[in-house]
Amino acid sequence: MDQPNQSYSRGAQDKTLLAMTIGQAFDHTVAQHADGEALVVRHQQCRYTWRQLAATVDLHARAFLALGMQTGDRLGIWAPNCAEWCISQIASAKLGVILVNINPAYRTSELDYVLKQSGCQWLVCAGSFKGSDYHAILQELSPDLRSMISLDPSPPAEFLPWSQLAALGSGVPPEQLHTRQASLHFDQAVNIQYTSGTTGFPKGATLSHHNILNNGYMVGESLGLTAQDRLVIPVPLYHCFGMVMGNLGCITHGTTMIYPNDGFDPLLTLTAVAEERATGLYGVPTMFIALLDHPRRGECDLSTLRTGIMAGATCPIEVMRRVISELHMGEVQIAYGMTETSPVSLQTGANDDLERRVTTVGRTQPQLENKIIDTDGNTVARGEIGELCTRGYSVMLGYWNNPEGTRDAIDDAGWMHTGDLATMDEHGYVCIAGRNKDMIIRGGENVYPRELEEFFFTHPAVADVQIIGIPDARYGEEIVAWVKFHPGHVANELELQTWCKGRIAHFKTPKHFKFVDEFPMTVTGKIQKFRMREISIEELRTQPN
Ligand code: AMP
Repeated sequence: MDQPNQSYSRGAQDKTLLAMTIGQAFDHTVAQHADGEALVVRHQQCRYTWRQLAATVDLHARAFLALGMQTGDRLGIWAPNCAEWCISQIASAKLGVILVNINPAYRTSELDYVLKQSGCQWLVCAGSFKGSDYHAILQELSPDLRSMISLDPSPPAEFLPWSQLAALGSGVPPEQLHTRQASLHFDQAVNIQYTSGTTGFPKGATLSHHNILNNGYMVGESLGLTAQDRLVIPVPLYHCFGMVMGNLGCITHGTTMIYPNDGFDPLLTLTAVAEERATGLYGVPTMFIALLDHPRRGECDLSTLRTGIMAGATCPIEVMRRVISELHMGEVQIAYGMTETSPVSLQTGANDDLERRVTTVGRTQPQLENKIIDTDGNTVARGEIGELCTRGYSVMLGYWNNPEGTRDAIDDAGWMHTGDLATMDEHGYVCIAGRNKDMIIRGGENVYPRELEEFFFTHPAVADVQIIGIPDARYGEEIVAWVKFHPGHVANELELQTWCKGRIAHFKTPKHFKFVDEFPMTVTGKIQKFRMREISIEELRTQPN
């Protein structure tokens, strides 16, 4: 019996979990919908039916076998959205190779860290992206890898061109792939995604077939996806929004995956919806704002849209309303989750009334549990605020090679402590109230103050630094750095921003700097970030841009 007055809720039990590996689920869809359209990659002008995608996936999986990839090996992928990303995702899953997602915006120090921490033996990389020469970065870093596969048609000598994989794969008998696939089980790790959580350096959330296949499946079920649906995926594939809610949501339902571009571009997204006659669209709030405000939106016929998801950060009510009325997404849903829970644990439903669909993050997903606890770990009464915790099939296996971090995140009873503050109403609808941790979400990208602070400490002039987020109409939040210099040292805003370039991802570079001698402190010597936030908001409000 549930205790209705406590902030605890269980998702529906009638939807059964898929008891198979990602490879098996993919093959099942291919058999059912062979001639249906599987993947459209607009910027590469390529289209695959499920049969064609399966043939390409299997050939590349055989090439990976030819290279010597073993079950449990780590294959890094450092590339923006493209067909090869999807092919690598499915091919590696078929081999039991663990795909390590690397943010395309990562630069030397972050790339070096994740390659080493995950123990990658293999890498698939783009040649360049947004003005960054990936080959040059890798040549400089010279990582200890068995092979670097480049998506560039003619890469430098130390890279194996992706275009050579087909020939390599054709030399491996298909039976070898079938034998490998049959030896896998669904609780094995298949993916590592880096997320910094509350503390310092990024941690590798390690996810199994069971974790992410089922989450993609349940998200798609909630949207009512079918083989007639066509989903535009402008969100990045390196994040679970793209590769789980997008790719696996589609793969489990025979739905067409449509990538409008390598990175987010509002006009290309709108034209992809119109020209592909899409029925669904995903995005973080910042993306939807950009679509709504685009001057050429009126030229695009969006009337085929039915559904989609807005998630990843607080979804402003007004934006949700406009998405429903102006983008025709009458059935749009909000999802809430985190990488460590595969990601989605709460979602609004197609039958929820408008008010709940725009003001809450919905109810507990099928086969999961959520509860809200106080600082002593007791479940709070309905309506009271506390920390949201999630339990069930979606909770990651743990952080890669980090048992201590895992113990801090997942308690003995199996609850993942999200670090998010929330309330649950009497019907189980949850509202996210804020964050326990001080993570900044800028344009859907997570920025962890602690990680950035550690980075600024490596600058010779910087004595101390505090990073805060302040509200921003365009990006949701913007980053402000408060900096104290060493005696006799100074640097200006432009010098510090230039210094960041090439060393850290562009989205982590603070927009504003404030140079101070002291930080606001409590009497006990604790830094008051909330006070810094108030001061920065006030100063920037009164300052011309
Ligand atoms: P990530 O691990 O990158 O998926 O980031 C997870 C974090 O994003 C969560 O812990 C929340 O702080 C935030 N988040 C995700 N979805 C939502 C949502 N619908 N509303 C508010 N915050 C969200």
